[in-house]
Order: sequence, then structure tokens, then C-alpha cells
Amino acid sequence: MVRYLYIHIPFCLKKCIYCDFYSVSDSIPLIDAYVEALCKEIDMRGDHISVPEAIYIGGGTPSLLKRKHFAKIIGKLNGEWRTSREMEITSEANPGTLSYRRIKAMLESGINRISIGVQSLNDNELRLLGRMHDASEAARALRDARRGGFQNISVDLIYAIPGQNSGGWKRTLDEIVRFRPQHLSTYELTPEKNTLLHEHLEKGTLCMPEEDTIAEMYYSAIDILEACGYAQYEISNFALPGYECRHNLNYWNRGEYIGLGAGAHSFRNGMRSANVGDVESYINEINEDRLPVTEAMALTAEDTVKELLFLGLRKKEGIELREMPAEVAEKMKETLGNLARQGLIESSENIITLTRKGLLLCNEVIVRLMLCIEHSRPA
Ligand code: SF4
Repeated sequence: MVRYLYIHIPFCLKKCIYCDFYSVSDSIPLIDAYVEALCKEIDMRGDHISVPEAIYIGGGTPSLLKRKHFAKIIGKLNGEWRTSREMEITSEANPGTLSYRRIKAMLESGINRISIGVQSLNDNELRLLGRMHDASEAARALRDARRGGFQNISVDLIYAIPGQNSGGWKRTLDEIVRFRPQHLSTYELTPEKNTLLHEHLEKGTLCMPEEDTIAEMYYSAIDILEACGYAQYEISNFALPGYECRHNLNYWNRGEYIGLGAGAHSFRNGMRSANVGDVESYINEINEDRLPVTEAMALTAEDTVKELLFLGLRKKEGIELREMPAEVAEKMKETLGNLARQGLIESSENIITLTRKGLLLCNEVIVRLMLCIEHSRPA
């Protein structure tokens, strides 16, 4: 039985220039019907779910939901499994759509953790990213979340923004820690294909900061946040003691979860699957009593090992070689030795962790380990 639920709210008022998530702005009138469909999907999947450990409402922009929507979704889950304060129930929120009333509505519905997409406290950077809020609205959202009663607040930040320098990034970090959120995620801006950001970079109308500057930004996040009492528990994630995100840890630990809503992904019984992405098709499928699953893939033994590597190595605690089949651990020995000599990994008692240098070059480490598994595959 699955104890982790993800609920996708795929609506945004405006598309940010770097975003390749599934989100739509023209289907907002469908929110009522969408929430109805979500509740029906909870019923349809109920046999595979037991009392949840963590529920995560992500998007898109969940803070576009009204009081009645939060009450309906959490009320439905509560009716089935009795939600409690001990569960981690998170909702993402966008400062541009987060009024004090909405914060109170979230809390009253049972949501006990809020993840606020601040991204930057510099107005020029926020404008460039295409965010709909400015720095003062982000600060107000943080103050309101605290004043409203949230005791578990997470903040998302982005660095390596075109035009940003190390000093500007450090100012955002210094300002954000004054709000004392319990949790922080700091993501490097990556230009994904089919985004406006990618287009600008191709045309040369924007350019990314130099690699050395990006490295300096990454390390300054670790140093500033650790000096303020935040422990880094994953490449991009930091928490005060006891506030690590249970939902994310389950994902990196390859725990099972069920994703509800348009475009949501699930992992159960060794299968990864995805719901149909289009909002209208999702609602129609559910209303026709069909599970809206469009993709399902059973993982092979090799897929599983690769996932153990690329999800597990992201965590500060690393991976245990014992979790790998013996023949795979044997194949990786030489590459692991090389990576250790280059100062990218450390290994002790069969546990492999990334060094400070390895954290920055995590993708390279993972690719080299994957290649060594693939190259030693029997022809
Ligand atoms: S608010 Fe989030 S999901 Fe919506 S467009 Fe911006 S980055 Fe994408």
C-alpha cells in the first residue's frame, strides 16, 4: 500500500520563461471540474493507498485554488484516511497569488507545510524570469505565512540567472535567512528546450553567467546556509534539523507514490506511470470512469540500478553499495576508484558519498557510473 501522494494542480496565470512543467493558463475556468475529478481519482485509486505519511500539492500554482477547493481535496483525503497533524501536508504557493485569506484557508483545510516560490529577492531578476511577483510581494508572503500560523515554511530560490552575479545571489540568501524558513531549495537555472529562456539564449539576447561564477554561487549557498544552521541533505536542499521534506526524501529513496491529476506521475510495484497531461482529457477520462493513465513502464533490473544511482547519489548520505547487485558493484569498482582519486566521491564502509567537488559535478559522476554499467552489459 502506498503512503505518499502527489496532487498536481496544472494551472498558472502566466508562463515563466524557464518553465517546462505542464501548466496551462487558458483552462482556469475548469478548476471546479478539475477538483471534482481529483476527488474521483482518489476514490478510483483508494484501494492502493493507506494512511498517508506525506501529501504534496504541487503545480502549476496550487495557490490559485480557493478555500472551497482546498477544503474539498483535503476533506476527501481526511474522509478516507483521517489526516492528522503528524502527516506532512504541503502545498506549493506563488507569492503573486498568495493572499493572507488564502494562507488561512490552506491552514484551516489541514495543510501544515507551505513551499513558497520566491526564486529571488531582486526585482530585475524576477522580471527577467517572467515571474508575476516582485520582491516586496515575496517578503509579504513569507511574513503572512508565518503570521497566519505556518510553522513549517519552505522557500524555493533560483541562481545562475542571466545578469546575476555572485554578490547579488548572496544578498538574496542573506535576506531570505532572516525570515528563518525551515527549509530551502536552491536550484540552478537550467535552460530546458522549448522554453522562452532557451530561445533567448539561442538568439543571444540573454546569456548565462560564466561556469566559475555559477560554481561560486553554488558553494556560497552551501556556506551561507550551513553557517545559519541549515544542513544540506541533498544537492539542492537544506533544512533546519527535523525539517527535511519527507515527500522528496521518499522520491530520492525510490519509495512508492501515487500521483493524482493531469500529468501526474506514479511509482508502484516496480512500474513508473503517468496520467494524461491535458486537463480536459483528464477530466473526461475520469468522468467516464477510466483511470487516465497514458504511459506505464515496468523497470528492468538495469533501470532500477540507474535510478538507485541518480536518485541516491543526490542525497548527502549517499548510496550503499550493498543495495546494488554484486555484479554491478564489481563493474563499478574501477570507475569508483577513478572518481575517488579525482576527489569527486568518498567511500567508507561501502557507502558512497559525493565530496564538495562532487556535489557540483554530480551529473558528471552519475553519467560516468551509468556508462560503466552500460558498457559492461552483455552484447
Ligand atoms: S509558476 Fe511555476 S509552474 Fe507556473 S509557469 Fe512559473 S515556474 Fe512554471
